[in-house]
Amino acid sequence: MAKKTYHCQFFLTLTPDLKKYIRGKLRGHKLTMSDQILSLDKLDKKTEVLGVFVDSKIDKKVFAALPKLKLVLTLSTGFDHIDMREAKRRGVVVCNVPTYGSNTVAEFAIALTLAVNRKLYHCFKRVKEGQYDYHGLRGSDLQGKTIGVLGTGKIGAKFIQMVRGFETEILAFDAFPNKQLAENFGFRYVPLSMLLKKSDILSLHLPLLDSTKHIINKKAIKKMKPGVIIINTARGGLIDSEALVWGLKQNIIGGAGLDVLEGEDLLEDTLKLLNVDCSSDETRLSLMNNMLIDHPNTIVSPHNAFNTHEAVRRIIDTSIDNFKAFHLGNIQNEVK
Ligand code: NAD
Repeated sequence: MAKKTYHCQFFLTLTPDLKKYIRGKLRGHKLTMSDQILSLDKLDKKTEVLGVFVDSKIDKKVFAALPKLKLVLTLSTGFDHIDMREAKRRGVVVCNVPTYGSNTVAEFAIALTLAVNRKLYHCFKRVKEGQYDYHGLRGSDLQGKTIGVLGTGKIGAKFIQMVRGFETEILAFDAFPNKQLAENFGFRYVPLSMLLKKSDILSLHLPLLDSTKHIINKKAIKKMKPGVIIINTARGGLIDSEALVWGLKQNIIGGAGLDVLEGEDLLEDTLKLLNVDCSSDETRLSLMNNMLIDHPNTIVSPHNAFNTHEAVRRIIDTSIDNFKAFHLGNIQNEVK
């Protein structure tokens, strides 16, 4: 490897053993690691390589504060927390981790599906509160149900592979249907409106793009089968939170398992939220999110689907490889 020493700044909440692991791998470079999410006051002007999770927003202000920035390593698949237009304008390379845990996230989507469908949260809560009684906790079989999968990329495909084991019928929607996958796993691609109409369970595995933002809105919810369960382990912005609250109220939506929420950064620290000068849109979104969290038929987890020992290690290893490849001039996993 060439001898250049890079100034690296990482904003990652990690256990001490993983921090030590990263330090070992980046020996020879100037590395500072913060346990907190990125904030402007913590940025070092000398930084050339920035490492972040999805909870750190890389906006125009961050780019402006780092004039020497050459590389952003996002330790995630998604990159909607980065202003890609600005990165491009400034010639900053952004690398992600495209394939760290398709199984990891799909397993979590299955866990949420089962948990909502069989009311597991209420089962456990009731027993822990000293009430050993199953009345009011009736769920439904998955066997024979129709599962609608939005997005049949890496995670959606794994989810399909797993959910087949429950003897379900699977329908899918994707802008780029994968005929071979459909043949291998015995499912059908259908138009979105049919998927919404026929599915007992909907699982979202799309990226958040202008074309997918609020793909689950009031209009879409009106087409859904009454009692449908919605599972979202992709990105909160795929669902219009206000429409979801409405759908739950109308009993069109029977339940939801959400690992991601639109504007989830507003929820991370309640105190921060209280001190923040919220625009009315932000306040409204926070209110909707709190309604979703408090609703008896929903479970919300804190963007945790990626979080297994194995996946975190794979994320770190790929990110270090991304850095080394950049260093050698062979950029890999570049987000364009
Ligand atoms: P992927 O790129 O492999 O698959 C995405 C699929 O969406 C592709 O098949 C693509 O054709 C389809 N698609 C894109 N735009 C579309 C559109 N407008 N309409 C219909 N289909 C469209 O991505 P993946 O690895 O399967 O990840 C899916 C999402 O899961 C990611 O965007 C990421 O944000 C999210 N994710 C969440 C977590 C978590 O911890 N909750 C972890 C990893 C990934």
